[in-house]
Amino acid sequence: MSAFADRPKRSLGQNFLQDKNIARKIVAGLVVQEGEAVLEIGPGRGALTDLLLARTSRVFALEKDRELAPALKQSRPGLSVINGDGLTFCWDGLAPRGGIKIIGNLPYNVASPMMWEIVARVPRLNRAVFMIQKEVALRLTAGPGSRAYGALSAWIQSFVRPELLFTVPPTVFKPRPKVDSAVVAFMPAGHAAVSDKKALAATLHLLFQRRRKQIGAILKGRWSDRVEAWSDQHGVGRTMRPETLTPEQFQSLSAILAQEQSL
Ligand code: SAM
Repeated sequence: MSAFADRPKRSLGQNFLQDKNIARKIVAGLVVQEGEAVLEIGPGRGALTDLLLARTSRVFALEKDRELAPALKQSRPGLSVINGDGLTFCWDGLAPRGGIKIIGNLPYNVASPMMWEIVARVPRLNRAVFMIQKEVALRLTAGPGSRAYGALSAWIQSFVRPELLFTVPPTVFKPRPKVDSAVVAFMPAGHAAVSDKKALAATLHLLFQRRRKQIGAILKGRWSDRVEAWSDQHGVGRTMRPETLTPEQFQSLSAILAQEQSL
């Protein structure tokens, strides 16, 4: 009996990739050189892992499944396996020499909160490639003013430059998910780091909780002289809606709200 004979666990979002060509395309998107450190989230039965190990000897695998993690370790002695949870993982402590690249065919039920933490907390993220639900990929890459643009888009784009690489049909997985998938790459943003992450998160939650409302109404009671000056400087009127603001505008607004202790 194979070490992976267990049935896929739906609670862990286990949809295993069956298509070698797509696995190759996903790994190619990470652009890995020998010697680079790569962390794979949710390696499962190793569809991406072997392709990664063929490119670099420094592959770390973070797998929550208590049966799959030891089976992976046993079958691939060169692999460092951590039996842990990507939602509670200590991302801040992940700082190998030369930085790190992260990859994963993510469990769709927890992909958004996991990516939220990763972009903000991994100290030197050189590049990341994730397969996620297509609808989430469209939200990540959406720009201000579009229907898919929301707190997740503005947050992710504050830290990295996301790019949609290609879409993937349900037919290449076992079991098949009910939704289409897409592969996204996160590149370094190339702009200044976010100075106050807590304030940015609080501002995004505050504004997108009521995204159909006008900014003036949402910020009623917080509309100080400094917020007024910010609104003049950025051409953001009180009647505009949160979904029209750029990630940079959320950041500058959040800095003011934090200083005025209105968050
Ligand atoms: N990489 C494999 C593939 O492409 O076939 C498996 C992908 S499957 C969609 C998601 C994987 O993530 C599963 O192996 C599952 O056990 C693992 N997983 C689920 N929740 C997790 C979590 N919170 N932290 C780490 N791994 C998790």
